[in-house]
Amino acid sequence: MIISFDLDDTLIPGIKTFPTEPQTLWHKLFSREKLRSGTIRLMKALQGKGHSVYIYTTSYRSPLYIRRLFLSYGIRVNKIINKRIHDETLRERAGIISKYPPAFSIDIHIDDSPGVAMEGGRYHFKTIIIEENNTGWTDFILAHLSRQ
Ligand SMILES: [Mg+2]
Repeated sequence: MIISFDLDDTLIPGIKTFPTEPQTLWHKLFSREKLRSGTIRLMKALQGKGHSVYIYTTSYRSPLYIRRLFLSYGIRVNKIINKRIHDETLRERAGIISKYPPAFSIDIHIDDSPGVAMEGGRYHFKTIIIEENNTGWTDFILAHLSRQ
């Protein structure tokens, strides 16, 4: 499967807060943005099972920056979709839907936003919504995916 992750308030704390991964030296040198605790183990487990891991963000962070941020934690993300790529791909539809994973062949999208789950219901794509206080979020995702 192709599994995509939102960044802000899902994997990177912003308005929402949650524990973050221990920082490596490379990461400290590279960025002040930290990844949610459990991200490394989860992404490596998913890729180990043969899944592809994408990032799908409505931010304008460059794909190169995002690729390097994850690499600084030892994670090789398979593909990155930012707001610019979303807009270019969806064209006039980009304004009416914040995310549309099927446009990128994504099977399931993981996000913090109930609004994205509602869009999934309306436009027929699968989502997993992770709450800020879900400390067992990685097992929650793995259990959800095993039922697909
Ligand atoms: Mg978000």
